[in-house]
Amino acid sequence: MDSVHTTVVGAGVIGLAIASALSHAGRDVLVLEQHEHYGQEISSRNSEVIHAGIYYPPGSLKARLCVDGSRALYRYCEQHSIRYQRIGKLIVARMQDEESELETLLRAGQANGARDLALIGREKLRALEPRVKAVAAIHSPHTGIVDAHGLMRQLYHEAQAGGAVFSFGSRVTAIERSADGYLVTVEPENYRFVTDILINAAGLHADRIAALAGVDLDAADYRIHFWKGSYYSYAKPSPVSRLIYPLPHAGLTGLGIHATLDLGGRLRFGPDAEPVYAPDYRVDPGKQERFFHAAASLIDGLEQESFAPDMAGVRPKLGGQGVRDFIIRHEADRGLPGLINLVGIESPGLTACLAIARMVGELVRAI
Ligand SMILES: Cc1cc2nc3c(=O)[nH]c(=O)nc-3n(C[C@H](O)[C@H](O)[C@H](O)COP(=O)(O)OP(=O)(O)OC[C@H]3O[C@@H](n4cnc5c(N)ncnc54)[C@H](O)[C@@H]3O)c2cc1C
Repeated sequence: MDSVHTTVVGAGVIGLAIASALSHAGRDVLVLEQHEHYGQEISSRNSEVIHAGIYYPPGSLKARLCVDGSRALYRYCEQHSIRYQRIGKLIVARMQDEESELETLLRAGQANGARDLALIGREKLRALEPRVKAVAAIHSPHTGIVDAHGLMRQLYHEAQAGGAVFSFGSRVTAIERSADGYLVTVEPENYRFVTDILINAAGLHADRIAALAGVDLDAADYRIHFWKGSYYSYAKPSPVSRLIYPLPHAGLTGLGIHATLDLGGRLRFGPDAEPVYAPDYRVDPGKQERFFHAAASLIDGLEQESFAPDMAGVRPKLGGQGVRDFIIRHEADRGLPGLINLVGIESPGLTACLAIARMVGELVRAI
């Protein structure tokens, strides 16, 4: 039977970054991807924002890997000529009584190590973004946007150059513990092979892969719930040149509908948050009014008829109360040595991908 040292399930931005890091560290790496191309699921349906690390609980993996990952990602984009823009972001208080929330958020962001955050008042705000409706804001100059496809292309080529082998159209359907590691079954050919180390970077389906490998999802609290996020585009030239976010109110799934720009300067609003039973990428045309009102509460002078359904992505949310952290874990203590699970890699996973790959590299070295 064939055997391979390290197998990565999933060729989204996380699996690609891991494959690139491990192959360059001299590991023998196989990547299994169910689609015919990399980056067909979460990694190609997101806001492409390089987050600064403001929102996440201090000390969490999300905070640490976002702050480290953002620096690493800017450097990587420079080194490999991947398109990005450090356009900055404003988180706005629309009423005086929201200002204390801004201050709390500012302190959390600074504690996380997000750089050069500043609280700005009405005048500075007007000078930066005259059309934004707010009394104060946090200015985050190091938030940016990136060409996620360009990033994945580079990681893919780099992984291949390091010797990683990619098998597309290969869906993992069974995993059994064996004396030498894990016996993995791949469809459609019913191909079976053994791997010493199995890295689960399966995005929306990471809980399913963990369960196949023997993790009790309820005991581990690994069950993923799908939360769809839709976007509406704005057909007119953008009246803002930065990303504009409302304050993230408690209980919100996501950061609230906000203004995002792509590298072509196109303005979009979203994502909203809606639970779905299965990944579904249709955008409801009946949401125009809701998106317009959310957008118009942030920016003056928008025209409702210029809002059109754009695209949707699906978040792999872990259940339970409050903000759940990324799960990135060697499962030796569950009796599954050599299995590394990455579950619940929602935002800021794109920003954090290189830092996540570094962390997984350390876990692999320690096995
Ligand atoms: C609406 C939205 C907006 C977001 N905005 C941002 C943002 O602005 N900035 C940011 O930093 N992050 C953002 N994120 C988060 C970011 O996009 C994700 O964290 C990241 O893309 C996750 O990558 P991944 O590789 O884990 O998942 P994916 O890209 O989904 O890759 C997982 C891969 O595993 C494959 N797979 C699954 N099961 C199997 C199987 N059985 N066999 C073989 N292959 C399998 C899938 O086909 C898929 O290709 C956003 C997410 C969403 C949903």
